[in-house]
Amino acid sequence: MERTLVLIKPDGVKKHLIGETIKRFEMRGLKIVALQMTWPTKEQMDSHYPKDNDWITGLGKNTIRSYEEFESPTTLIEDYGTEDAYEIGKSVREWLINFMTSGPIVKMVIEGLHSIKAVRKIIGQTIPAFAEPGTIRGDFSIDSPDYANLKKRAVQNLIHASGNKQEAEHEIQLWFSPEELHSYKTIQDFFL
Ligand code: GDP
Repeated sequence: MERTLVLIKPDGVKKHLIGETIKRFEMRGLKIVALQMTWPTKEQMDSHYPKDNDWITGLGKNTIRSYEEFESPTTLIEDYGTEDAYEIGKSVREWLINFMTSGPIVKMVIEGLHSIKAVRKIIGQTIPAFAEPGTIRGDFSIDSPDYANLKKRAVQNLIHASGNKQEAEHEIQLWFSPEELHSYKTIQDFFL
């Protein structure tokens, strides 16, 4: 049994996808144990996204890869003044924080067997243009990193979900107090 954190990002809220998102988790038999709408501050988002070298460099490497894959009309030097993955990652992290604080989000904690992996599969892969139909990102969004980078903004992909156990633990305690996490039995629990 695992718990994972999901955020419906500002684009998901503005596209009226709160109900649809919750429905997809519930129809899978996953249990919502905490739920709230909030307008996050820059400080909250800064604490939410990892600050370690590996994570920021990874984000920068993804951006560099999309410049190569999509044969961008501009160069990294023209757009960022650097080709260093860490420095580029820092810019993308900043765009992400700006995007996440641009409107209200819906935060929730989801519990269930292997819920971290199960939720990631339901939302689909990071890049909406390549997300499989049937996933939330694959059904309701079409953004791509080359276009987002050109506009100097984060890829808009509707949902955030914890990537692993460590992230889930950090994110759940950041967004909810222990009293806000509810333990109760659903119909599903009687069949497990
Ligand atoms: P996730 O766990 O699927 O959300 O993906 P990541 O942890 O790799 O990235 C965090 C968020 O940063 C993504 O959900 C996107 O909103 C954004 N993002 C990721 N890669 C890129 C990129 O190459 N360019 C831009 N502009 N945004 C990106």
